[in-house]
Amino acid sequence: MLRQTLLGMSRNDQLRQIIEQAPVSRDVVKRFVAGDQTPDAVRVAGELVETRRRVTIDYLGEDTLDPEQAAATTDAYLQLLGALAEAGLTVDGTVEVSLKLSALGQALGRDGHRIALYHARSICQTAANVGTTVTVDMEDHTTTDLTLATVRELRQDWPWVGVALQSYLYRTEEDCRDLAHEGSRVRLCKGAYKEPESVAFQDAGDVDRAYVRCLKVLLQGQGYPMVATHDPRLIEITSVLAAKAQRSPDSFELQMLLGIRPDEQLRLAGSGAQMRVYLPYGQDWYGYLVRRMAERPANLSFFLRGLATR
Ligand code: FAD
Repeated sequence: MLRQTLLGMSRNDQLRQIIEQAPVSRDVVKRFVAGDQTPDAVRVAGELVETRRRVTIDYLGEDTLDPEQAAATTDAYLQLLGALAEAGLTVDGTVEVSLKLSALGQALGRDGHRIALYHARSICQTAANVGTTVTVDMEDHTTTDLTLATVRELRQDWPWVGVALQSYLYRTEEDCRDLAHEGSRVRLCKGAYKEPESVAFQDAGDVDRAYVRCLKVLLQGQGYPMVATHDPRLIEITSVLAAKAQRSPDSFELQMLLGIRPDEQLRLAGSGAQMRVYLPYGQDWYGYLVRRMAERPANLSFFLRGLATR
């Protein structure tokens, strides 16, 4: 019911205009989305870097069924990387980019894989030219195999290409084993999509326990784990497991979303941990926030809690 209402909201243009233009929404959205334009993303990234946080930037736009839109998204990334380099923010991967293959055309029929790979390659080449990295987000389970295949191809030229894995999928512990090799950057998150019982744990406790099992595999492995969660228990467990695996603070990082637990982000960065903030920007913020909530109604309380916390 809530899901249908939210999906209806995401497609209602009149409602969209009212919400987009209301001053209160701009204030709320500013908390979670850096702005509409490239300079907004560069400015907010610069502010985060000044407070010892690293950044990964996501240009909003997903599920593209239009080849021109996929090309425009790619251009936006190329422009962004150029602007970040000009601002001196890409050195040593301080600010990198995150991308969704569906935004680069992965769903464009039989040629989708090839088109998304082509666009991702040009983003990776530009990132390499300016000294930074790229991480590929993970989307719903129907795309997991294709996304991992694309990452494998990209890694042949750019071994630093990172990929996200979702602990709610039964398969993920095995994927972690496959990807825990030297130089392999893996972002571990719980997973944000509504997935069926046939492929994913439904119970929050099971998802958390799977997260810890995956963490163990990644931290004991030779790769570079990126621990993406706001969950205080999992962050505590990460520090215990990292110490046990004799990991130095620069051999893994913690990641959180822009606007969620900002005080904790600062505390962790100040304590010597590597902290990276996932920063979305772009004109598609309305669809982004509302669809995230519709995919998983728990996301509604997730963002509302984000507003209540510092
Ligand atoms: P939750 O189970 O949502 O929360 C656990 C606990 O964390 C809460 O009990 C509370 O103590 C604390 N907490 C959580 N939210 C808040 C809040 N708003 N305010 C205060 N405390 C809070 N998902 C994908 O499917 N694919 C991706 O590629 C992907 N990339 C991501 C990248 C990053 C950097 C991050 C942080 C998340 C990403 N996600 C991705 C989303 C992720 O899968 C989860 O949906 C999201 O992070 C919520 O899970 P959680 O681990 O924070 O824990």
